[in-house]
Amino acid sequence: MTKKTHIGINVTRRCNMKCSFCYYTTLEYNRNPENENKNLDLSLNVLEERLEKINNIGDVYITGGEPLLYNELKSLINKLIQRSDKILVCTNGLLLNDEWINYFVSKNIILVISLKDSSEKTRKKLNKYYQMGLKIELYHVLSEDTLPIVKLIPQNFFWVEKIRLLFETSSDCNKNIIPAKHWFALLNISAIYLKDVIEKVEVEVGYVQKNHAIANDPNRGAVNRIILDFDGRVYPCPLIVEKGNGCSDINERPQCKVEECPVLKQNNFDDDYIQICPFIITNLKSFLQ
Ligand code: SF4
Repeated sequence: MTKKTHIGINVTRRCNMKCSFCYYTTLEYNRNPENENKNLDLSLNVLEERLEKINNIGDVYITGGEPLLYNELKSLINKLIQRSDKILVCTNGLLLNDEWINYFVSKNIILVISLKDSSEKTRKKLNKYYQMGLKIELYHVLSEDTLPIVKLIPQNFFWVEKIRLLFETSSDCNKNIIPAKHWFALLNISAIYLKDVIEKVEVEVGYVQKNHAIANDPNRGAVNRIILDFDGRVYPCPLIVEKGNGCSDINERPQCKVEECPVLKQNNFDDDYIQICPFIITNLKSFLQ
């Protein structure tokens, strides 16, 4: 049986927020004011052409920009629903309303929501969606400043399908990366805060010890998947979208290279640890054992 192919689709480059941790803000495209009036949405015909070449689709992450700004979202979901294992829509949640929620529930779509605060407003909003039957995964970019948000997750969102703690990444190779020991300390504190929901917590591993097999892999564990950008170009990783190596044929897409990876090319390592592909995920409980 052919291996499943996981796909990320950037359906639009339009967004209604400008989050400091989002790699999209560092894309060249967003820096050029001349692009403002160009078409920033993926064409469904192009999507079909690209998908024709994939036989065994696993999980599909629909992202952007903000996917709820994409006018063809329902048509796109209809095209993918029979052909994929699972569809996840990554949204900042600003445009969610009852109509969208009922639609996602009816299609068994999972919403991936980036949790950025621990306000009562957010708690009430997400709990209402849960009561309406929506499946939600919470993703959170973890830092020292955001630990108070993590602390309240079990109390506010005990029902959530999954919690994923993210290692901050950027397509800008000059952006500072959190060091290994600091990252592991944050994961240890998070494990204490999240002990009542620990089975549901996934983390981006970030670093391994230098004698680990992944540290000696020439690709440092690069996660293999397909990223389809709004203009039809295909990439092996969201962090190298626009870095000049996209192509239009899914089967011809190049693999990423450590020397071109905006995270790994910084060569972050200390005496004990080396940085690996930041998209390698594990369960927090098994990570700490
Ligand atoms: S190694 Fe770097 S470029 Fe390759 S998939 Fe991981 S983050 Fe992306």
